[in-house]
Amino acid sequence: MKDILKVLNCLFCFFFFFLFVCFFLTHLTPRQSDIFGLCDHFQRANFLQVSINFSSVNIVCRQQWGAAAPKQKEALKAPAQRVVIHHTALQNCKGLVECTEHLLSIQRLHMDKRQFDDIGYNFLVDREGTVFEGRGWGVVGAHTKGHNHDTLGVAFMGNFNNDTPTKEALQSVKQLLVSGVSQRFLHSQFDLFGHRDLGDTACPGENLYKAVKHRRKQNKVVLNG
Ligand SMILES: [Zn+2]
Repeated sequence: MKDILKVLNCLFCFFFFFLFVCFFLTHLTPRQSDIFGLCDHFQRANFLQVSINFSSVNIVCRQQWGAAAPKQKEALKAPAQRVVIHHTALQNCKGLVECTEHLLSIQRLHMDKRQFDDIGYNFLVDREGTVFEGRGWGVVGAHTKGHNHDTLGVAFMGNFNNDTPTKEALQSVKQLLVSGVSQRFLHSQFDLFGHRDLGDTACPGENLYKAVKHRRKQNKVVLNG
């Protein structure tokens, strides 16, 4: 009888240990199937982070600037092959407090007026070099008509027909792209474009376009400025 109780005890222990392992695997570790970037993991874990430092680039997650939930979200099928640089063509801003209103109004414009699923860009950068998560890594954007399924869209906040991109913003975008390659969201030999290279538009503005140099099929990012 004692032996039977021992066996039952062991079985119970094993069962609870098994449940614990299952819970750990499903809730506390990143899943390959839904990797969209670090911000998503922090959101799921209910972390209250001001910013995430990865490869020396600070990313303000979308929940921190109060982004509305996307209507839907489509994953890129492979690491992005191309990066498209945009400007918002609006006033520039700096920091979370000042840029939040800009980010919210861009998201409203994109979702309500243009009927996009979410803010169009994957990331946005202010003039101090703070990077804001838009759709984030590994997500199909709505920024360059006909080219959204293999690209990453990065918007500099401001109108660069008049503004000049700051060294801080250029450096942050460079680091963002390097971290994208190291996380395999970006192809290691990605191409870099200004929006005007792929569509009939003045975007990303004359001064920013001058700072964007194409380095086709090369394993480095060059943003002069
Ligand atoms: Zn553009």
